Amino acid sequence: MLLEVLQFPDPRLREKAQPVAQGEIDDALRKLAADMAETMYDEPGIGLAATQVGVAKRLIVMDLDWTDEGERRPRMLLNPEIVLRSGKAISEMEGCLSVPDFKSDVERDARVVVRARTLDWEEVEFDASELEAYCFQHEIDHLDGVLFIDRVSKLKRDLYVRRRKKQLRREQEEAAG
Ligand SMILES: [Zn+2]
Repeated sequence: MLLEVLQFPDPRLREKAQPVAQGEIDDALRKLAADMAETMYDEPGIGLAATQVGVAKRLIVMDLDWTDEGERRPRMLLNPEIVLRSGKAISEMEGCLSVPDFKSDVERDARVVVRARTLDWEEVEFDASELEAYCFQHEIDHLDGVLFIDRVSKLKRDLYVRRRKKQLRREQEEAAG
């Protein structure tokens, strides 16, 4: 089932998500993760955090190199946590499904080690760099209520916010006829 992806400035994007306990893993949570993956492929994107579909739980899905033809193996991770960061890098032309019509270079950690749990409660660890590292940082930021526009210059952010507000106003006027 496709889920609605919340869009800036929806206040729910600013909520801090709660950790998921082992006892909370049930069919409903598995369905949520599967629906999030389906939504990510449909949008299309390479990562999605539960926060973006209005669920304040620490759950992310990720798939960096899916194709239309190939088999899809989305990572579904609970309670992802960055346990080590090193170096600085620029994530080029980063975007976000919750921030329509905006892309920007973002300063990120070059390498991160991420620890998480699978839906089977196995502990997993990823030593990530480049796109994988940026994607982890972006999705974990979502769980903390942080958007990538918070990590660009104030000037760029203000310009975007103004443009976005204008766009929303126009949509409202059109809807009102
Ligand atoms: Zn995002």
